[in-house]
Amino acid sequence: MECFDTHIHSEGKGITELKEMSDNSIKFAVSCAYYPIKPTNGYTLIDMFRKISSFEVERGSKVGIKIIPAVGVHPRCICDEWKKAVEWIEENGKIIGEIGLEIASDEEIKVLLEQLKLAKELELPCIVHTPRKNKKKITDKILDTLKKSGIDSELVVVDHVNLEIVEKVLNEGYWAGLTVQPGKLNVEDVLLIVEKFGFDRFVLNSDTGFNDLDCLTVAKSVKALEEKFSKFDVKKVAIENGKKIFKVI
Ligand SMILES: [Zn+2]
Repeated sequence: MECFDTHIHSEGKGITELKEMSDNSIKFAVSCAYYPIKPTNGYTLIDMFRKISSFEVERGSKVGIKIIPAVGVHPRCICDEWKKAVEWIEENGKIIGEIGLEIASDEEIKVLLEQLKLAKELELPCIVHTPRKNKKKITDKILDTLKKSGIDSELVVVDHVNLEIVEKVLNEGYWAGLTVQPGKLNVEDVLLIVEKFGFDRFVLNSDTGFNDLDCLTVAKSVKALEEKFSKFDVKKVAIENGKKIFKVI
């Protein structure tokens, strides 16, 4: 079955790994903006956005993956001139991500809110990161900020959900991203979650990027899901929900 990895950082992957993903049925991937060191100025972010939106898309097409660019100011990439980067997103962005909160400082909340307001105004889908540390507490602040922005819940994927926060995210009407990686979810967790909450509101991703994490976890999860559930249901989380949210034809 063709799969959609809804959150990767393709810049961190070599063409060999991207080909391996494509050879294992991962034919669509959202490549999210993230700069691995704190940028010194807004143009660092802008050039990274330009790279994802052109060069990364081209690299994907060479190996048979449709790479869909997402651009946004990640909470760990906030620099003094972040507003310049948001202006670029306003002109050029189609998906905003990844954005979110890491420690929920006032600055992070301000940057997130600004980008959510933009997404609302332009009706762009967004990918919202939840952190590993203090997940429950910081997710509450993310949900507050989402509400404050007035954004339509259909435009929002709250990503890296776990058993602790999944119910709350679904109850507020958002899409939920299941990230299959050590320290986040394993395949058994995914099976448990969809068994309990159904297939309609989830997307799968690996968050693979600037690390040595397995880039095939979406394909592996889909295989495990196919052994247990109907093709009709599995297809939703494997590809269809992602295509719908990110408007992929
Ligand atoms: Zn990420």
